[in-house]
Amino acid sequence: MSDCIFCKIVANEVPGTIVYQDDDVVAFEDANPQLPVHTLIVPRKHYDHIGDNIPTELLGKLFATVPRIAKIKGVDETGYRVVVNTGEDGRQTVHHLHIHVLGGALMPIRMGPAD
Ligand code: AMP
Ligand code: ZN
Repeated sequence: MSDCIFCKIVANEVPGTIVYQDDDVVAFEDANPQLPVHTLIVPRKHYDHIGDNIPTELLGKLFATVPRIAKIKGVDETGYRVVVNTGEDGRQTVHHLHIHVLGGALMPIRMGPAD
């Protein structure tokens, strides 16, 4: 996708702070971190969201990367939250599938009535 910011980060056309990469996935720091640790895991190939007919093997690989990132970022012992915002109601703003890994502090509880 030529206009996708995460495709550009994956292709090194836009700078990103890469935490981990392999043939299928790339993890980089969120530009606007919500907690001390806020890393995004994306597939190299563009998929809009988690419902975008992603091969099961790739889904497995993406989620298998979560504990790897947690270890690299030093939150594997303290815990973290994994978030996949999806679509409008899910407040997804970048339409290239990504997994948020958030930690490094106690998660603020923000669930509640919709605003
Ligand atoms: P979401 O709301 O789940 O779509 O999350 C998109 C995330 O991407 C947000 O947390 C943004 O801070 C982050 N983001 C947007 N642009 C960039 C960028 N160029 N580099 C790193 N993170 C970004
Ligand atoms: Zn993309």
